[in-house]
Amino acid sequence: MNLGIHYHIRWSSDSSLDWKPFRVKHEATKMAERIKKPKERYSIVERGDQCERCKEFKLKAFFVVNE
Ligand SMILES: [Zn+2]
Repeated sequence: MNLGIHYHIRWSSDSSLDWKPFRVKHEATKMAERIKKPKERYSIVERGDQCERCKEFKLKAFFVVNE
């Protein structure tokens, strides 16, 4: 499964990564700002081909649609 470099949101309230992958960092930031709860914090995490989160959820279809 060839994912390439992509980004995930990591919420401060939850140590696991958000399921949704983003191709570019500012898209992840924009989404995080939109859906975050008041006072919740997050960081944007870079992942590559060996992303444990995407392997877990088998999101190959998502990437095909977005290319
Ligand atoms: Zn991923």
